[in-house]
Amino acid sequence: MTQCVAPICEATEWRFAWRITSRTIMQGIHLFTIKGIPVSFQPMFILLILILSVGMQNPFIFGACAILGVLIHEFGHALTAKHFHLNPEVTLCGLGGLTTHARPNSPKQDFLITLAGPMAGLVVAGVIFGILFLVDLLGFAPFLAKYQLLAIFLSYTMYINLIWGIFNLLPVRPMDGSKVFTHLLAKITKPERAVQIISIFSFVLAVGMIVYFALGRNVFMIIISIYFAFINFNDFMKAIRGSGNDATERMKRIGIQAEALYEKGLVAARAHDWRKLEMLGHQMKLAADGRDQIARAYELLTIACTNLGKYDEALEYAPRAKQTDAVKQATARCKSLTQ
Ligand SMILES: [Zn+2]
Repeated sequence: MTQCVAPICEATEWRFAWRITSRTIMQGIHLFTIKGIPVSFQPMFILLILILSVGMQNPFIFGACAILGVLIHEFGHALTAKHFHLNPEVTLCGLGGLTTHARPNSPKQDFLITLAGPMAGLVVAGVIFGILFLVDLLGFAPFLAKYQLLAIFLSYTMYINLIWGIFNLLPVRPMDGSKVFTHLLAKITKPERAVQIISIFSFVLAVGMIVYFALGRNVFMIIISIYFAFINFNDFMKAIRGSGNDATERMKRIGIQAEALYEKGLVAARAHDWRKLEMLGHQMKLAADGRDQIARAYELLTIACTNLGKYDEALEYAPRAKQTDAVKQATARCKSLTQ
């Protein structure tokens, strides 16, 4: 654990929040696209891999396995987000990886996307363990010993995926575990209370990690732990005072922003400015908080696309839209014009 330090994954920042908080400094260089998921990287990612690999017995193989481990984790998130049609993108950054995507349509989708990252790593680790176990059981160990590089590659990949999977499941913000545990806690207590508990837990655990890694003199992990404690301090103070939490307040603000976009949309519709209405609909879809706001965002999009002559697109939006008279009329018009 002290040597195999784990890049963290701020997996499932919604793209709307992502735009607000990060903008251009976080934009990466495009590397490749797999299954329609673009992967980009920031130069700091190379530095991270170098820091992790230095001192390893086989630093090049370790570096390659580390990159593979981050990709496996992020694609766990990204493929699940893609399954829900949320247009994911993967960025390899200075803290590990980040998958961004459109806002999920339900807390359950958000939970599954978040959980899929660590689970992908754990499944890969489990499969490699199974293979190595069988190789040993069937007496092929001497055969594998001939291919030493392959054996090293398999063992690094197994350990990296195992340790990163477990590390990312720690209930400390901004790691996946905090979201997973908040979701599970929200099943037995109020959502606000769940956020409060995780806020306290995140800070306490981060301080514990500082002490633990200080004893092991792991400078890199001490820095990571201080960063965790720093970003959790505000929410921790608010939680022990019993006031609102930054994360929930931010979500409330986003919800209010979505309402403002809807109001602007109504004005644009009255002015027959359909292009503006379409743009506002897309913005509201990303900002929407809850099913009602999502349905009203699709309402704007259905009406805008119908009036812009994009009938097929309008018919895609219509089933998810709030079924107002205007939406029903728009749907009927699209159907009659596309038949
Ligand atoms: Zn993750």
